Amino acid sequence: MPKADQRQTVQKTFLENILIDSSGPLSHSEIMHKAHKAGVAMGRVTVFRYLKKQLEAKKIRKIQSPRGEVLYEWIESTQRHQHHFFCNNCKTAFPVEGCGLKVSGFKVPRGFVVQDHEVQLIGLCDQCKAA
Ligand SMILES: [Zn+2]
Ligand SMILES: [Zn+2]
Repeated sequence: MPKADQRQTVQKTFLENILIDSSGPLSHSEIMHKAHKAGVAMGRVTVFRYLKKQLEAKKIRKIQSPRGEVLYEWIESTQRHQHHFFCNNCKTAFPVEGCGLKVSGFKVPRGFVVQDHEVQLIGLCDQCKAA
């Protein structure tokens, strides 16, 4: 295998593992930080390009945090319908099981069809609550 191809494969596998092993969605800078810490060299553009590809392949999804930060989450490791808890203090995003939302509680205009919804839970995680 040519050297450049080999490096790309290493980067791709590494990024995939970061996303799959993460307990919650990650921002681009968190991914960069993890790569840096692990000593895997890759540029910002490489990571963006990888994320774009995975988004197109529907392997990951994009989530907007309450602060407007874009986070990425591997879909296969979670359910298709997924809500998140965002900690106001440590800014960590946690996947939350279940969905307590009753769509029938909304007064949707006549003739409209609800196809999906997004809910974000915001508060303090157990670590920050204890601090
Ligand atoms: Zn927290
Ligand atoms: Zn829901």
